[in-house]
Amino acid sequence: MPEQTSERDAGACRLCGERPLRMFSAELLECACCGVLTSVEQPRDARAHYSKNFYTEKDAQRFRFGLEWPVRFFRWVRFRRLMRWGPYRRVLDVGTDRGWFLRCFQNRGAEVFGTQLSESAARVTSRRLGREIFLGELPDARFPEAGMDLVCLYNVLEHVREPRVYLREIGRILRPGGLLAIEVPNARCLTARLFGRHWLGWDLPNHIYHFNPASLRALLERHGFTVLAESHWSVEFGPFHILQTILNALGFSRNQLYHWIQREELHDGPRASAVSQITMLLLAFMLAVPCGLLSLLLSSCGQGEVFRFCCRNKG
Ligand SMILES: [Zn+2]
Repeated sequence: MPEQTSERDAGACRLCGERPLRMFSAELLECACCGVLTSVEQPRDARAHYSKNFYTEKDAQRFRFGLEWPVRFFRWVRFRRLMRWGPYRRVLDVGTDRGWFLRCFQNRGAEVFGTQLSESAARVTSRRLGREIFLGELPDARFPEAGMDLVCLYNVLEHVREPRVYLREIGRILRPGGLLAIEVPNARCLTARLFGRHWLGWDLPNHIYHFNPASLRALLERHGFTVLAESHWSVEFGPFHILQTILNALGFSRNQLYHWIQREELHDGPRASAVSQITMLLLAFMLAVPCGLLSLLLSSCGQGEVFRFCCRNKG
């Protein structure tokens, strides 16, 4: 069960130290200083939570209908984007997914390292890479000081209970001048503001913190990083986020399309009726292309569903 945190004992913002946090909605607290939103409900045991809800126990799969293949392609795209700043000798991926991303670096001769909270994903990734993936939180892994050329933190920081501890640890293990690549959902994008609680990117209670480009940039700069590049375009997340958000707002059960593509054992909520599923799928089919175009337009205006920073460790 998620741990309930009341407004009174939420205390100071864990990212900038300001107080008090104020209610933003029934589910979120806002820091008036740095603008970060914090979820009221938070998972108590992160490792158990991610082991049970994110990957199947047996083979660490997430999606049905062959959708693991596009995910694999997106990890290659992620790798290609980073190679313009490379090459890298040592690469750490925090939250390794199934290891396809690290495999790309390994194929280029890099020594790769990873951390993972899900036991099945850690097992599958360790087998795929032929080396042990650390099962647990990044600060507990105790990687050598200044040993990494690149640290990747894709869609992780919003899940982390103590982001400052993570960023301090990354500053320690990244060599001076090394690169941090980071991606998070954009909690101040137009669709989040327009659709409110229907927005897919809140993903409560999995996401503890909800960043926007200004708040994350300020946090990174306080921890000794210089942002070199900012990007909002994501084929993986942009169109799907918008489509699922619109379906949520139309009254289908929350994240029904997402649950439909997920492996069945990962979703233990109530099942939608056949009529509701067919209606949703027809609508999703009709809205897919408009959502793709809308995502392209919004991300080109700095309103992407997610945003990425490429940062240099000042050391
Ligand atoms: Zn704050």
